[in-house]
Amino acid sequence: MSPAASDPRIGVGCGPVKLHNAAMFAETDRGPVLAGQRCRDCGKVAFPRKRVCPNCFGETLDEQLLSTTGVLHTFTCTHVGAPHLPKPYLLGFVDVPEGVRLLSLLTDCDPWEDMLRVGMPMELVMRPLMQDATGEDLYTYKFRPVVQERTDS
Ligand SMILES: [Zn+2]
Repeated sequence: MSPAASDPRIGVGCGPVKLHNAAMFAETDRGPVLAGQRCRDCGKVAFPRKRVCPNCFGETLDEQLLSTTGVLHTFTCTHVGAPHLPKPYLLGFVDVPEGVRLLSLLTDCDPWEDMLRVGMPMELVMRPLMQDATGEDLYTYKFRPVVQERTDS
């Protein structure tokens, strides 16, 4: 396991990792953070970044970093899906306080039938998604349940 994947602070402060889709992130001193945009006209926060506001078509958009914690809206276990993902894998929607519902892979929740509950608190972690042509891990965000007294990473 790479140092980044074992860092319990990951998602905030995970250190340099190669991102699968850098356009979804902003680099901060805490590490890569999901970055959307807030419309100056209507206040809507959109993710990922857009050319215009999807609510009012306003064109004046400011960067809005998204929280690394949220609430699980719903989830599913997928047995047939993206070829590069080991199956089965878990997908969910996580609502962050900025008003964005994020589609996300879910991790660190095995057995998922016992651990996942709609409405539970979730936190963002950075984890490998796939490898590039050179075999280097490409990272993306995933969410995991917030568990008190977590002993692993
Ligand atoms: Zn707007």
